[in-house]
Amino acid sequence: MSLHGKSLIEGTPLPTSTKTFTAFDPRKGVSLEPNFHEANAADADVALNSAQAAFAAFRQKNSGERAIFLETIAAEIMALGDELLERAHQETGLLLDRLTGERGRTVGQLRLFAEVLREGSWCDVRIDTALPERTPLPRPDLRRILVPVGPVIVFGASNFPLAFSVAGGDTASALAAGCPVIVKGHPAHPGTSELVAGAVIKAAQSCGLPPGVFSLLQGSSHEIGTALVRHPKTRAVGFTGSHRGGRALLDAAAARPEPIPVFAEMGSLNPIFILPGALQERGAQIAEGLKNSITMGAGQFCTKPGLTFAIGGTDLEAFKSTIEPAIRSVAPGTMLHPGIRDAYVSSVNAALNTKGVNVLARSHAEADAGLTQGQAVLLDVSSDTFLAQPCLREEIFGPAGILVEARDMADLLQVAESLNGQLTASIHGTEADLDGAQELLYVLERKAGRLIINGFPTGVEVSPAMQHGGPYPATTDSRFTSVGTAAILRWVRPVCYQNFPAAALPPELRNENPLGLMRQINGKLGRESV
Ligand code: NAP
Repeated sequence: MSLHGKSLIEGTPLPTSTKTFTAFDPRKGVSLEPNFHEANAADADVALNSAQAAFAAFRQKNSGERAIFLETIAAEIMALGDELLERAHQETGLLLDRLTGERGRTVGQLRLFAEVLREGSWCDVRIDTALPERTPLPRPDLRRILVPVGPVIVFGASNFPLAFSVAGGDTASALAAGCPVIVKGHPAHPGTSELVAGAVIKAAQSCGLPPGVFSLLQGSSHEIGTALVRHPKTRAVGFTGSHRGGRALLDAAAARPEPIPVFAEMGSLNPIFILPGALQERGAQIAEGLKNSITMGAGQFCTKPGLTFAIGGTDLEAFKSTIEPAIRSVAPGTMLHPGIRDAYVSSVNAALNTKGVNVLARSHAEADAGLTQGQAVLLDVSSDTFLAQPCLREEIFGPAGILVEARDMADLLQVAESLNGQLTASIHGTEADLDGAQELLYVLERKAGRLIINGFPTGVEVSPAMQHGGPYPATTDSRFTSVGTAAILRWVRPVCYQNFPAAALPPELRNENPLGLMRQINGKLGRESV
């Protein structure tokens, strides 16, 4: 299948402007065919108007019909076969094995949301039946349910060209909720985006859905993304990427005459605390795990551990002498695109130019800029330097980590307290360590969305209990997650129906419970009818 290089609006490839950009093969350092047309504000307007028009029909579809749509998207993505994987490999440098796994995750989460829809209880039905005899005032009949907000804009991430992009978690959860989606494609993988968007559109057609239910707008400048966020018909935004990008979109959404929510996942330092007993008992094993977690996928994960804290002493010296050769043996890895590689090199240099920062270890081989490579590096600082230098609390996106040496447990608590909001925080400890670490746990619970004991943060399960979101600046709204089935809750709002006649109620709220949902009736959970 040859790529047309156009945005897909109302199910049709549209040439949009004559301004174009190309994808880039980071492994070879060359541009890729074809030219992609930049979408503009007029295209955003067409896409939003048709999304708004589609919303009424789409939200009328019942859960079973939306589930079939999600499963059909999954089947159409699989039907793209190796062509999709090969294009994603060319555009990102990610290995085919990794991309095969990521495709599995992408179709898996579409199918998981189909299951969520069929089970149905996600819409959180609460029914308080009328109490006409209550004094001094009678209680009306109240029935509350979550309803979709309307058209959602999704900004795909560069580091997951399938699972956090065109048909990734944000799109799957928004479509599951009943919201039309417009994706602003990431300019680093436009061909991959076009292929996946074609699959979504084919699925929408075969499910008889209106064409405005999904559009892809291609672009390599901030203007198109900003125009989409500012458009009056946009109801919410999902974003994964840099802090600067997420913050700009949050501010643009807040400055609208009618502000809208922006759910931006903007990265994290994912601190790891190695407590003394664990350091002594299994320092070498932790060093191996840490090296893998920092350098896997050239460190291009929002859950990469950027900071590790431990108390100085002979056990920490032994840990350092184990991790130093491990990091040295890591070959420089291909990064996603030259912009990310350049940002990585300058962030590492900025850290290195900070007083008190030393190199503990780095890849033995030099990175080749022409092949978009990044060299693994582990830096070493004292807790005093860490506390004095706020720049060390900024994410370095790539295979870099900082080891912070504390004096004692009180010092560890102080550095923990100084941290910003995080996606994750991990503790390595023996049972005795953990018994004495309650205060540290309380601090970290305030700082992070996911707490991990004796493990590493990379690898995010897509499941009902997952929380991928933490206090600002990790995300813009720590009450929600961008991974797992609870992600659907970002795209809905509660509505209460008061004293409605049965025939005018949605089926979920009717007395007889025709969908067999788990509901809260007069404060008690159950599947009974009212
Ligand atoms: P990015 O620069 O934030 O871009 C993500 C998306 O947002 C792109 O579609 C980009 O499109 C758009 N965008 C960015 N800034 C914008 C603005 N001010 N106004 C409107 N749209 C904007 O992220 P990236 O290219 O993937 O990577 C750059 C850096 O992001 C990395 O070095 C890393 O620090 C971080 N990152 C974080 C994560 C994470 O999981 N949180 C993932 C990947 C990258 P345009 O370029 O077309 O405007």
